[in-house]
Amino acid sequence: MKRKLRNLLKLQWLGIIGIFGDLFHIANLDWFYLFWLLSLVDFFLSFRAISSSISGSFQFLFQNLAMLMSIPIVPLLHGFRLPNKENYTPQCHYLLPFEGEWLVVNGGVDKETSHSWNMCSQRYAYDFFITDGKGKSYSANRKELTDYYCYKAPVLAPADGIVMKIAEKYDDTPIGEVGEVDCAAPDVRGNHIIIQHNKHEYSMIAHLLEGSICVKPGDNVKREEKIALCGNSGNTSEPHIHFQLQSGKSFVFSAGLPISFVDIECDGVITEQPCFIAEGSSVRNVQKEKDQSSNQDDRS
Ligand SMILES: [Zn+2]
Repeated sequence: MKRKLRNLLKLQWLGIIGIFGDLFHIANLDWFYLFWLLSLVDFFLSFRAISSSISGSFQFLFQNLAMLMSIPIVPLLHGFRLPNKENYTPQCHYLLPFEGEWLVVNGGVDKETSHSWNMCSQRYAYDFFITDGKGKSYSANRKELTDYYCYKAPVLAPADGIVMKIAEKYDDTPIGEVGEVDCAAPDVRGNHIIIQHNKHEYSMIAHLLEGSICVKPGDNVKREEKIALCGNSGNTSEPHIHFQLQSGKSFVFSAGLPISFVDIECDGVITEQPCFIAEGSSVRNVQKEKDQSSNQDDRS
């Protein structure tokens, strides 16, 4: 759409033909002056792009300052007793927010494996993407977003809850050089969803595809309900899902909560007891109900 508009605006240069009409006294060519009106549209759109880029830069700066301030403030707000894997048990049954097998690229419940230990709300966050048999997350030459296996993969609600917030105005971040991150993204999360699961447990899923979010604030969602598609919006080097559980709605000033998963498969082992996952593991949800019904189908 944007490309079509840009091409249409190039027609403004046909206005030059009107000047020729004046120079050579050809009256019918005066109509070409009307194409200059497109230059007004061009000017308006350029002005809008510049102002949104300035306000985006302020948002980016403000969010980063707030994250810096959160380092001493969040422990203070929690009386220096932040939740950890020993003292915290989730109040809900959480599953992974996707279908099929994904790799934990980032994250764990210890300082060594943590996604971002000092950023308290992201302390127990995870990044996930899909890999092939060779451990690669992309096919072809990795230059296009569609080369990545998880791009546009369904994103699921990790547990029952109420949608508290969605943000869906960000384009995908283009793929840069290997490992390079677009630090100019106005919101590091890009398009995201926050779901409240109980009084002090909120999940936040980020880097979603623009226009793919199929829930709105106030909606009740069920565990494993499709809520969006994986994209590459926000501060990200390649398509992936960022998933975290936090104690409040605020992305910056909440405490991160460790999740012990039940009914998932981690590196080929089904976890019937609550277990923590960490960077390097391949994980998937166990399709208990589907498996049971297919077993019944097999028997009948
Ligand atoms: Zn992340």
